[in-house]
Formats: sequence, structure tokens, C-alpha cells
Amino acid sequence: MFPKDEKLDWLELRKLVSNWIGFVADYMSFIMSIRPDLKDQEAVDDLKKLESDIANATEPFLTYEETLQLQNKIFPLILDWNPDIEDQSRKFYNSLVEMARLTSKSKSLKASYEPFKALKEREEKFELARDVINNIQNSVNVFKPSTIEVYAMFYGLITTTPVVHHSIFTQYKKSLELFELDKKYDADFIFSVSTNFKNREDKIRSDLRDIRNSIAHFNFKLQENEEGHPIVVLNLDSKTKPKQIPLDEFSWIYFNSVFLLQTFLAIQYWHTSFATLRGAFVKKRTCPKCKKGNLFIGNTKEIYETRDEPTLHMFWFCEKCEEKFPFKN
Ligand SMILES: [Zn+2]
Repeated sequence: MFPKDEKLDWLELRKLVSNWIGFVADYMSFIMSIRPDLKDQEAVDDLKKLESDIANATEPFLTYEETLQLQNKIFPLILDWNPDIEDQSRKFYNSLVEMARLTSKSKSLKASYEPFKALKEREEKFELARDVINNIQNSVNVFKPSTIEVYAMFYGLITTTPVVHHSIFTQYKKSLELFELDKKYDADFIFSVSTNFKNREDKIRSDLRDIRNSIAHFNFKLQENEEGHPIVVLNLDSKTKPKQIPLDEFSWIYFNSVFLLQTFLAIQYWHTSFATLRGAFVKKRTCPKCKKGNLFIGNTKEIYETRDEPTLHMFWFCEKCEEKFPFKN
């Protein structure tokens, strides 16, 4: 689960992981600014403390249980904070976990799976995209946007979609094919904010890209519908019926598309942070049976298909004698 350059030294590693943890903490603060009812300052403070503990760590200092406790606090918040994108977020996360599990079992997959290359390369553009998004978010009247505000959202879609969507989506779709998980997880559905959006070829595809394309290529019109309400008409040169979207619904699509991509970014950072955390910052535990091997955490397949408490599907196993131990004893 480490980035490709696996021989990171300790100093580099702790800088990288503390940065990722910091990113997740900031994202949680962002969520709470939108959903004050979910406010959990303690979880953010815990993460901030972890960020600084890791930045100064001289040796592994955590127990597995501590990482799990923390993850259980953060997990529901990041995945479920927005009901409109919860299903997509869960599927996205589950598929990353499955890919990580398959990677750990196959050398050739390990060599060809590089989820963080694209993320690292585009970090600077992500920052710029986030500034644009935040500015628009702070200035637009979501419920009754003016024409100029709609143009601002158009600009936001045109500039941020290729940066964020393209780098995450393209990489993700390729990875699903590589792991033969593309039948189980539909990348186009996962990267859509409305489930019934069909493109000009009448196929269900990620709607974000299609909406962005029709705006960028001037295949849209701002007008009023028969009742006099302002609407956006997309795909004007379509052979099929153009899509009419009332302006307030368009704001909803716009903001959810932004939230979806940002949440996926946070999920990726968070997933890698925790995998790396467990690989490098958790104290080793010796097998009580053979007293020689180190213990590792394993899990059953059911863990990906349920919303049970994850520890119900986890166990310790010894790398030497292969004995399994229940997770809680
Ligand atoms: Zn053993």
C-alpha cells in the first residue's frame, strides 16, 4: 500500500503520513462546516494529535486497536455525511479495500497498481481546484442562483472536473479492470451524482463528465421552462431529448459533484494513511503459540459486504505457524 518508491526512509515516511492524516483532519473540519449537526471536534483533535505524534515519532508507538478505534470514529463521518453520495462513497471505499487485499496477495498486481502516482503528480492542481470550489461555494446562492452565479458554477465544473475527476476516475476505472472487479463495481455509477443520466449515445456514463462536456462545448442554453422557471438545457445537439435541469437542481448537481470528488480524494488519502500507519507505526506483536512469528491482522470476505462492526470479521494470524486467533480475546 506504500507509494511505488517503497524504500522511503523513516523521516520521509513520517512526513508523508502526517501530511495525509492532516489532510483527512482538514476534510473532517470541512464536512462539519457544512453539517454542524455532525460536529465531532474530539475526532478532529485526535487526528491532529496523531498528525503531530507521527511527525515526531522515533519508533512504532501505536497499537492496532488504537488505529481501529480512530478509524471507527472517522469512518462513518467521511463516508456517510451526505446521503446523496453515501452509496457511491461506500462502494468506492469497499473497492479500494478489496484492491488492497488482492494487491497484498499478488506480486504482479503490486507492481502495476499505483493509485497514488496520479494523486501525487497533481497535488498542486488539486489545491488550485479547491480554491476555486471554495470561492464559488462561499459566493453562490444555492437555492436561487443568478445567471452570473450559474456561470461561476459552469467555470467550477469546467476547471475542476478534468483535474480531479479525470485523474481519479481514469486511474480508478483502469484499476477495477486490472483487478477484475469491474463487474462488481460500476465506475460510471460510482462517479455519478444522479443515477438516471444518459449521455448522447444513450448510455449511462459518469454524468459529471457529460455535463462538463456539454457546458465546455457550448451545448447548453439558459432559458425559462413553460412555467417561467429558469432552467439549464444541456446537450442541445443531441439526437435524443435534451436534458432540462431547473437551476436549483443544477446547483444541487454541481455541489454534490464537487463533494463527491472531494470525498473520494479524502477516502483515498485516508485509506492509504491507515494502511501505512499500520504497516509502519504499529508496534509488533509476537505469536503466543510459537513465540517466534509476528502477528498480523486478517479478515474474512464478508467484511466487504456488510455494515457490521468490522472486527466481527477480523482475526490475528501468525506469519510463522499460521495459527489464527480471534480478534477480541
Ligand atoms: Zn506462531
